Amino acid sequence: MTGELGTGSVVGVDERDTAADPTAVAALVMDLQSVGLRVEAPIETRRGGAGPSDSGMLWIEGIPATVPTQTEAARHSPYVLKAEDDGEGIYRDGRKLASVTSSHRPRFYDMTTADGVPYWKIALLHLDSLASTVVQTCNYWGNSDQCGFCGIGLSLEAGRTIVRKTPQQLAEVAVAAKELDGAVDATLTTGSSAAPDRGARYVARCGHAVKEAAGLPVEVQFEPPRDLAVLDEVAGLGIDAVGIHVETFDPAVLARVAPGKARTGIETYFRTWERAVELFGEGRVSTYVILGMGEDPELTVAECRRAIDIGVYPFVVPLRPVAGSLMEDVPAPPAEYTERIYRRVAGYLAERGLGADTAVAGCARCQACSALNTVQPLLQIGSGPSREGTG
Ligand code: SF4
Repeated sequence: MTGELGTGSVVGVDERDTAADPTAVAALVMDLQSVGLRVEAPIETRRGGAGPSDSGMLWIEGIPATVPTQTEAARHSPYVLKAEDDGEGIYRDGRKLASVTSSHRPRFYDMTTADGVPYWKIALLHLDSLASTVVQTCNYWGNSDQCGFCGIGLSLEAGRTIVRKTPQQLAEVAVAAKELDGAVDATLTTGSSAAPDRGARYVARCGHAVKEAAGLPVEVQFEPPRDLAVLDEVAGLGIDAVGIHVETFDPAVLARVAPGKARTGIETYFRTWERAVELFGEGRVSTYVILGMGEDPELTVAECRRAIDIGVYPFVVPLRPVAGSLMEDVPAPPAEYTERIYRRVAGYLAERGLGADTAVAGCARCQACSALNTVQPLLQIGSGPSREGTG
């Protein structure tokens, strides 16, 4: 997994002053997303579900980042978050590395719908993005097809959400999240459905309602529909961006960690993305690419480049083991590994003119679950990308 991919490491944050050095901030984010953060100050965290589970949501020197805070590894992290007079700081060995502003409980969480559902059970604020899993069930969950990294059933079992949110509920919450807490976009996902559209129509209807009511840019996420004409319907509802997530480009790893998705097949993802880029535009179609599941790094970089070439944004993230998921005991990959892949993928993204700004909405716009966006600017200030292999 940790094959040599390049040189020019930025890892080594404790040698530098992060406030003055964007390279050090990038290194800190990568290391935190690997080893986690011990928390000695009260911060907003999220447990279970899809997305940044068991994580604290922070602005580190102004950079948005979700970092593991609830995992066993995080409890033993060399990094600690401490409260300060004005915000918080991240320390290591007693030395302050970075200033932090953490998320605090959004005001809309105290509201309830007319039918008595707390707003926080309908959607959550991930830093400045409103996020919801609109249907909290998946036809892969609880059987041999379940994705090993996923926690979609956990928050439902724990009573932290409701099984299905209506477009009206989501629209109501989105207006409050924008007005009271400054949400700038909405990211709506869904468990996969056995229906031919795989749940795309419903999540798009929800996205349409959010956009109409709150005027926020919206990303919706779903599995490749069996009929690509469903993508036309999603685009016809005014959705700004779509996430269609292959999760890994290594077919052997996909078969092991996400058997249901493996049956869809990686080439089906590419065909779906091509049509989606025609409809939504370059950079507005994204896929998660999870690192640290035993994948071939060269294949991963090559396939990320192939996706970028057709206008898809590969949102490369480290594995984030979710307590209660099938892969809860698999450690997150080391920063040395993720950095080398980030730098090469970021180089291709820069060449192609794709970035957080072109994503418009969703995970690739927010960027907090990855250090890809912190690495990309460094390539333009002189610590250039590694170019061997598929480069
Ligand atoms: S398809 Fe996989 S990742 Fe998506 S909700 Fe179902 S089990 Fe989770």
